[in-house]
Amino acid sequence: MSIAHEASCIFCKIIKGEIPSFKLLETKYSYSFLDIQPTSKGHLLVIPKYHGAMLHNIPDEYLADILPVTKKLVKALGLEVTTPDEDGYNVLQNNGRIAHQVVDHVHFHLIPKRDPETGLV
Ligand code: 5GP
Ligand code: ZN
Repeated sequence: MSIAHEASCIFCKIIKGEIPSFKLLETKYSYSFLDIQPTSKGHLLVIPKYHGAMLHNIPDEYLADILPVTKKLVKALGLEVTTPDEDGYNVLQNNGRIAHQVVDHVHFHLIPKRDPETGLV
């Protein structure tokens, strides 16, 4: 597969195994792993196996893999909610410094939001 890795990119290094990560799921098109500085327990990142800084740089076949994978991980985390009043989650994807992007390889955050009284913490 032709993948545009960038030598200096930390997420490309994670995909290639040159930087360790807690891997959750890998497909032909994406790689999912725990965020090193989680904002909640289970905070993870889904990234395309294609180097591009912003969403519009990523070929469609890579993007098409991301949401089904995210859905699998939502289920794996037990975040399927029966009503919006129960546990939930955010899916976030930042593009550009002004939008709070720090790592210049497209990544989707999946951030569990658990009910502090009833949810698993
Ligand atoms: P951004 O603000 O760019 O959307 O988020 C980048 C995310 O990548 C942050 O939540 C940060 O904790 C995470 N991150 C940065 N470097 C590493 C790393 O080397 N390993 C892992 N697992 N996560 C990282
Ligand atoms: Zn990269």
